[in-house]
Amino acid sequence: MENEPLLMLPGPVPMPERVRAAMTRQAINHRGAEFGAIYADSVRVLKSLFGTENELFVLSGSGTAAMEAAVANFCAKTAVACLENGKFGERLKKIAGRYGTAVPVVSEWGTPLDLDALEQALEEGARAVTLVHNETSAGIKNPAPEIGAIARKHDALFIMDGVTSIGGDLVEADRWGVDIALTGSQKCLAAPAGLSAISVSGRAWEQLAEERPYYLDLLAYRKSAAKKPMETPYTPAVPLYAALREACRIIEEEGLAMRIARHKRMSEAVRTAARAWGLEIFPTLDAVHAYSNTVTALRIPEGISDAALRGGVRELGVIIAGGQDHLKGRIFRIGTMGAVGAPEVLATLAAVERALRSLGFVPEDDGVQAAAEVLG
Ligand SMILES: *Cc1c(COP(=O)(O)O)cnc(C)c1O
Repeated sequence: MENEPLLMLPGPVPMPERVRAAMTRQAINHRGAEFGAIYADSVRVLKSLFGTENELFVLSGSGTAAMEAAVANFCAKTAVACLENGKFGERLKKIAGRYGTAVPVVSEWGTPLDLDALEQALEEGARAVTLVHNETSAGIKNPAPEIGAIARKHDALFIMDGVTSIGGDLVEADRWGVDIALTGSQKCLAAPAGLSAISVSGRAWEQLAEERPYYLDLLAYRKSAAKKPMETPYTPAVPLYAALREACRIIEEEGLAMRIARHKRMSEAVRTAARAWGLEIFPTLDAVHAYSNTVTALRIPEGISDAALRGGVRELGVIIAGGQDHLKGRIFRIGTMGAVGAPEVLATLAAVERALRSLGFVPEDDGVQAAAEVLG
């Protein structure tokens, strides 16, 4: 069927049929047992993906709502060390600045975070740390366990955005000392856009702000979640919760370890193709930073325009992402998150290779074949 393009973005990602079907059901009472079971079941599975035994809530609102909820409930009027090596780290910094004082710890996008500068910011009085575990804008995985250890040493609250790692890569929020972890629905979970999830540690609750937002008041979420049946404070986006529960069931059926291994293999296949072509993988790494296992950022070869490259890929029915802000025109990104498998990855790589060739780029080697070796 040539009707729907293949979405290979770092979110939103294609949804399994069962997930879509769950959204089309008749309305239900959001204060009844059926909704309570949907919510409770999702929370149970999400806790395993987060690697946490802390309380966890599902919010109506995309990942950014959970980012704002984390900061607004726990870091108001607080100095927050904001680690940044990409667009989403920058977003957390901007949010922290709205509610308190952001202490920027900035690295060039796509390069390793500066952990010495983080230590210094904490020594100088920052009381919390924000981190994007998998920086989607640059395709780099940041060292969450190391940063958690630094936060613990300074007794600082540790907020971690796991939007493009949770459900696609290993996250162990409790072991890593994460106080508040969060994710969004339309990334690795392969659910529809519009929901987010957030976990809150006991240590974080002790620091709950007196003056909190109204709609995103996590104490209200906590009180409603403790009811039987489990509830949300205001009318939730019920069809999205139903779809999220179905997405969680699919994740359970696959098994988290298998799912993580699959995401790793898919992104490894993309990187293998890039190396065979002679394209540069965008992020620069050190001993503790790694390539993302859910999104690959590649440099656009000299003389090729982003619009022409992605346009050529689109002609073959595949949608990939460009760069954001100052990375626009310099990189393109291939998401390998959610239900993605070998057929999708190989079709995408074939489309990219064809677009590159038609724009005058001569690949060094056969990238599609090299990727197929990884996937076979
Ligand atoms: C997508 C994303 C978000 C949330 O963005 P929304 O547009 O609100 O869904 C947050 N952090 C990261 C790392 C992301 O990739």
